[in-house]
Amino acid sequence: MTLPLITIIGNGFGGVYTARALLRRGFSVRMIAPDDYFTFMPLLHEVATGMLCESDVRFPLSSFISSKRFEIIKSRARRLDPALKLIELDDGRNLNYELVVIASGARPRLDLVSGSENSICLKTIEDAKVIRDNISALIKNGKKHFEINVVGGGFTGLELVCEIDQMLDRSGVSSKVRIFERGAAPLSEADPKLAAYVERRLKRSEIDLHAHALVDRIDESAVICGPQSFYSDMTVLAAGVIPNTDFIDAAYLDDRKNIIVTPFLNLSAHSEIFALGDIISIKDQGKPAMLAQLATQQASMVAKNISAYCAGKKLLPYTPKVIGLLISLGTWDAVGRIFGWPIYGRLAWYIWRTVYLFKTPGLGNRLKIAWRWTIYLFKKRKYIPHS
Ligand SMILES: Cc1cc2nc3c(=O)[nH]c(=O)nc-3n(C[C@H](O)[C@H](O)[C@H](O)COP(=O)(O)OP(=O)(O)OC[C@H]3O[C@@H](n4cnc5c(N)ncnc54)[C@H](O)[C@@H]3O)c2cc1C
Repeated sequence: MTLPLITIIGNGFGGVYTARALLRRGFSVRMIAPDDYFTFMPLLHEVATGMLCESDVRFPLSSFISSKRFEIIKSRARRLDPALKLIELDDGRNLNYELVVIASGARPRLDLVSGSENSICLKTIEDAKVIRDNISALIKNGKKHFEINVVGGGFTGLELVCEIDQMLDRSGVSSKVRIFERGAAPLSEADPKLAAYVERRLKRSEIDLHAHALVDRIDESAVICGPQSFYSDMTVLAAGVIPNTDFIDAAYLDDRKNIIVTPFLNLSAHSEIFALGDIISIKDQGKPAMLAQLATQQASMVAKNISAYCAGKKLLPYTPKVIGLLISLGTWDAVGRIFGWPIYGRLAWYIWRTVYLFKTPGLGNRLKIAWRWTIYLFKKRKYIPHS
């Protein structure tokens, strides 16, 4: 049987792991992607604070997909026409496909808070560098006291706020770091037991937690929340994301712009279109958690189902299985659940580091990260000069 060429849109966790799984099954793959890198997002907050550098979390695709059957088309999908089986690209080219996998991920939602242009998000390496350079500039300019605000107490906001606070503390700078969360506490909706630990942790570090706080506006140097205004040298917005699905007809999307897929991870009206990762909602199941571990699980299921589809066999249904959750709270502290068991503190932190070290692609990259992590246990961080 001649296997068809599979087109993948997106070079994140979903796209890259699907490509690898399909290549292992003998398929040829072409990937439409804005660049030829893969970014390991779970460690971005460490780039933002100078613990890791850019090359520790950004890997050339060629370094871990080495196959003659793999091709990258550097562009973005602008429109997908399921009737014509055609993808229009940003650069004006048109590509026909037989089978397509959509894994275009999500981007920060900027419409939730007015004045979001006065803040920085944390989604890309460029964002992480802006945060790092801003802090670095504040220190270089000799500012004696900083106020940094993080809007959004989800995983990203929480990891970042703890890391920034610890880094400023170790740099010997006087600072006030705040986190604004619309719920009762960070993680309170996801896991109340872990949320209680997080609350105590924030208190211990004197990070101000503003719970039940709906931020009204972000100004150039303030966060406005109800009648109160909080001075801000830098504001990071980590309050939500929206799927990158503008190139798909609204008929295939739900009201939050997620692609509605069957439990087999394809479209009911177009079984040759598969989708996964942060952009999907599964019919009758809802939206799976937006996690790299689920995107990689879905990638292997999509590859299996594409094989079955091509062989005329029955497709297998997918059920999301979150094996564990781990959130770092700065060096020496983390919180999480593994197989349902809550873990806290140093143990959680050792597990967090070990898990993410082993999830980083490539042995050389792992050794580099392990080396940097080890030296920064004893040494101040490289990118933040000390006053
Ligand atoms: C700061 C941060 C920390 C995180 N930490 C964790 C963690 O600790 N654990 C965990 O499990 N998850 C974590 N996540 C979530 C995890 O990274 C996502 O769930 C995962 O990346 C989703 O994979 P994806 O393939 O759907 O999307 P992405 O990985 O976002 O990939 C989508 C790719 O598609 C590309 N793209 C977008 N539009 C187009 C287009 N039109 N044409 C072509 N390409 C396009 C984008 O450039 C991007 O590279 C974190 C996320 C962030 C932002």
